[in-house]
Amino acid sequence: MKEDYYEILGVSKGASAAEIKKAYRKKAIEFHPDKNPGDAKAEEMFKKAAEAYEVLSDQDKRAKYDQFGHAAFDGSAGFGGGGMNMDDIFSQFGDIFGSAFGGGFSGFSGFGGGGQRRVKGSNLRIRVKLTLEEVANGVEKKVKVRRKVQADGVTYKTCPTCNGSGQITKITNTILGRMQTATTCNTCGGSGQTIDKRPAGADAQGLKVEEETISIKIPPGVEDGMQLKVSGKGNGAPGNGIPGDLLVAIETIEHDTLKREGDNLHYDLYISISEAVLGSSKEIDAIGGKVRIKLEPGIQSGKILRLRGKGINSINGYGSGDLLVHVNVWTPKELNKEQREFFERMQNDENFVPKPEKSDKSFFEKVKDMFS
Ligand SMILES: [Zn+2]
Repeated sequence: MKEDYYEILGVSKGASAAEIKKAYRKKAIEFHPDKNPGDAKAEEMFKKAAEAYEVLSDQDKRAKYDQFGHAAFDGSAGFGGGGMNMDDIFSQFGDIFGSAFGGGFSGFSGFGGGGQRRVKGSNLRIRVKLTLEEVANGVEKKVKVRRKVQADGVTYKTCPTCNGSGQITKITNTILGRMQTATTCNTCGGSGQTIDKRPAGADAQGLKVEEETISIKIPPGVEDGMQLKVSGKGNGAPGNGIPGDLLVAIETIEHDTLKREGDNLHYDLYISISEAVLGSSKEIDAIGGKVRIKLEPGIQSGKILRLRGKGINSINGYGSGDLLVHVNVWTPKELNKEQREFFERMQNDENFVPKPEKSDKSFFEKVKDMFS
């Protein structure tokens, strides 16, 4: 007695096309042979789900199935007689998982006409710490990495179990007809090659650990937590395999006085009341050293001075951020007698009465400006 297609996918008879697709995706992932190696039951479920989806995803076939059940596909009448082989099932996948999944799923092994698989070495991970200056301009870092490489003198030969194909093919007779399945060769792990001559010091795959100095070009504008990939600088693989990648995690060191926000930098400048009143020239921190800026007499506390292009170079490769200098007027907390008398005299002085102009924008308007 054949199981009901709706039950296999775990959906109701009235399920929408989207629900059916979603249910099949789930089953396909759950029972995927790569996730259940050697599990015949899982493989069976995987095929059943594919068959159910093949019918229920097709409006015409689904209508026939709803009316006649499995009898609709009995005998030689179109679908059913030939059954589905694994190639058919995997050809559905582009459709089910979308192209974004393509890469991930092409990594699954053991099926279809893929033939020999090139074994890839494992990835290596390192961290690099960068100062704000290094982030701003980009930097080339030299790091020492201990990675596995093929030992001198190692040789490999064609795998005797699979004759170099990397796969073992099996033909079974099923209710759906002759079904051909291919599984990854256990002897060589799918590479089609096994070790022939193993030099002293090499591991079972003919690899040994070597220290290598690798130069990593870090572009400007990277952020804390980003990961860069240096292709082919991970661990090597045996035979004609390809090495894995070196994954570089970026860690940034906080600057004493400059704060980063996107590609812009912020600097808090404190000036005295007299500097604000009389004007001044001040040195501030910037990338690559100090910069001198001029303050006009009568500058207001809260004013933001923008030094264009003095921020971080953009990671996109064009343009750079600005350095924003926040002016803070420092109010003295203690005064001597003479100073106190002076400020008391100024209390009702016309020049000391606040008269904000439109150009003395509020804090919120400045913030808005900064991000526009
Ligand atoms: Zn083999």
